Amino acid sequence: MDQRRAGLLEAMALERYVLRGGPADSIIEPVMAPTVAVVAPLPTSTTNRSATATVRSVRPLAAPAPGAAAGLQPPPETADLDWVGLEAAVAGCRRCGLCEARTQTVFGVGDRAARWLIVGEAPGPDEERQGEPFVGRVGQLLNAMLQSIGHPRPTVYIANVLKCRPPSNQDPTPEQVRQCLPNLQRQIELVAPDLILCVGRVAAQNLLGVDTPLAQLRGKVHRFGAAELAVVVTYHPAYLLRSPSEKRKAWIDLQFALEVANGRRAAI
Ligand code: SF4
Repeated sequence: MDQRRAGLLEAMALERYVLRGGPADSIIEPVMAPTVAVVAPLPTSTTNRSATATVRSVRPLAAPAPGAAAGLQPPPETADLDWVGLEAAVAGCRRCGLCEARTQTVFGVGDRAARWLIVGEAPGPDEERQGEPFVGRVGQLLNAMLQSIGHPRPTVYIANVLKCRPPSNQDPTPEQVRQCLPNLQRQIELVAPDLILCVGRVAAQNLLGVDTPLAQLRGKVHRFGAAELAVVVTYHPAYLLRSPSEKRKAWIDLQFALEVANGRRAAI
């Protein structure tokens, strides 16, 4: 194994799996051939991007679908906002019941001109306290994952589907997602990234508007919005902390995401 690869694996705490898993090269095995899952376009102001791979349909959520497949229309007050306006709108948002118990909203963080946009589920207690998504041990692992593929945290933009903390880490309800997703949609439009990396089942299902299991969402290129932004799905770092043996699959997902992003750049 060359030094760079060893460094990347160590950053993701994968070195144990190299020792146990046989030949070192086996950990970076070829990923599944890219396929594309198409979701209904959302109104967006971002530029057109081409889809070049095979089209694959995914099953829509039962109504009311909270995400893109539902043809969600951003409220007018969100659709045209710039960063300053959007941040203020989120800070004062009372569109769902989560506003009642929050101490502050968690808007998003990072480079607003980033090429990669990371989408998570919702803030937890630590995130709410600090006002920033993906902090603590979960944040550290996400940082290591991003570092391992050459996109360190300061170079990406990170946001959640929900901007307020659900009580007891409950999954977001369809109504909460329906009310809050326009905020994320506008963030995506403003960043206009090359690639959206969805971490975790809840984020992926709600962004894409599907109820497909995460295992079936991995290894495919999904498309978001009228601009057909590429979306790749992987595990949530919190899950990887609970199930470290799955880090190897996450590493494969990240390599796949890199290939997608690089292919997109070559195609433009
Ligand atoms: S979760 Fe989203 S929609 Fe609900 S109050 Fe917070 S910012 Fe508004």
